[in-house]
Amino acid sequence: MLKALNLNNINKSYGLIKALDDIDFIVNDGEFFSLLGPSGSGKTTCLKVIAGFEAPDNGNVSIFGEDVTNIPPFKRHVNTVFQDYALFPHMNVRQNVGYSLKVQKMNGPSMDRKIDEILEIVNLTGYDLRKPSELSGGQRQRVALARSLINKPKILLLDEPLGALDLKLREKMQVELKNIQRQFKITFIYVTHDQQEALSMSDRIAVFNNGKIEQIDTPANIYSKPINSFVAEFIGTTSIFNKDSALKLFNLNKAFSVRPENIVILETEKDLAAIDKKQYFITNGTLADCQFQGSHLKMTYAIDNDCKLSVFKSLEGNINQKYDIDIKHTIAWKKTDITTLNE
Ligand code: ADP
Ligand code: MG
Repeated sequence: MLKALNLNNINKSYGLIKALDDIDFIVNDGEFFSLLGPSGSGKTTCLKVIAGFEAPDNGNVSIFGEDVTNIPPFKRHVNTVFQDYALFPHMNVRQNVGYSLKVQKMNGPSMDRKIDEILEIVNLTGYDLRKPSELSGGQRQRVALARSLINKPKILLLDEPLGALDLKLREKMQVELKNIQRQFKITFIYVTHDQQEALSMSDRIAVFNNGKIEQIDTPANIYSKPINSFVAEFIGTTSIFNKDSALKLFNLNKAFSVRPENIVILETEKDLAAIDKKQYFITNGTLADCQFQGSHLKMTYAIDNDCKLSVFKSLEGNINQKYDIDIKHTIAWKKTDITTLNE
């Protein structure tokens, strides 16, 4: 099957800064593909290279099998939604949304119908005559989305499109964006620094760090099988034992990580007796911090001087449960629940 996008050996430097360092990936048609990484890791530069706003120093960009490396942005079947929306302030919603049709010399009832259709999809029916300044952040975001979807691009590039919204609205828009993507069957390349957002929305994620891709995989695999300590620490909460600690505490010759939900606290002798010692790593920790997080406590233990271990302890049925700092606990997790890491 034809691939929506193929980036082949892309490099891009700004002076001495290597913004993209040998970037390679393939995106399938209809896929929701996220570029996830901290600020400055090269995500926006990567989108600009795909859109054609920046030329790579070397490498190739192909869109649906066509090499577009030397083709200008407006001739690529790609639209971009920018973080700041870039709406025309003097135009109303209708004019903003219909802009690209107008440029294509479309007019009359067929254009009106298209605009009505897309306004309904993004839930903005009735807002036609408002100017961007008369809209909320979420509504402006929808206008930007409608404008970029109206000419049915094959690929939509979105650069932190929900970054300016507050948490509740962002979560609502995440669901709506995902629905729109399903409905239109468009390939989405979605830039975010928010790991939760990437995990919940994507088919696959490319984790960026310092202009390089550390790992490309499904959300479940990125979470449960991080390839190295950067990915493990960037995605979710995790505890990392370096090679020295792993060897000293567990006689294991490799660094590893373990997720907080996989760890059990053995508070009594009976708890300790109940587990099969062959299947578990068992150690002692001193409680350094205990935070209430609604459904669970986030407990941080100090282990063997320099190691910190995070544990989520479910509060089912006992919402008022508390622990004293400095208390000592025996802690354990299944040997099969660790991920060994290349440091
Ligand atoms: P992200 O979107 O992941 O935050 P960017 O792609 O914007 O990262 O930036 C990657 C690196 O390239 C950063 O170090 C940034 O400062 C640098 N950079 C990006 N654009 C330019 C530019 N036009 N001129 C110089 N440096 C740039
Ligand atoms: Mg950016």
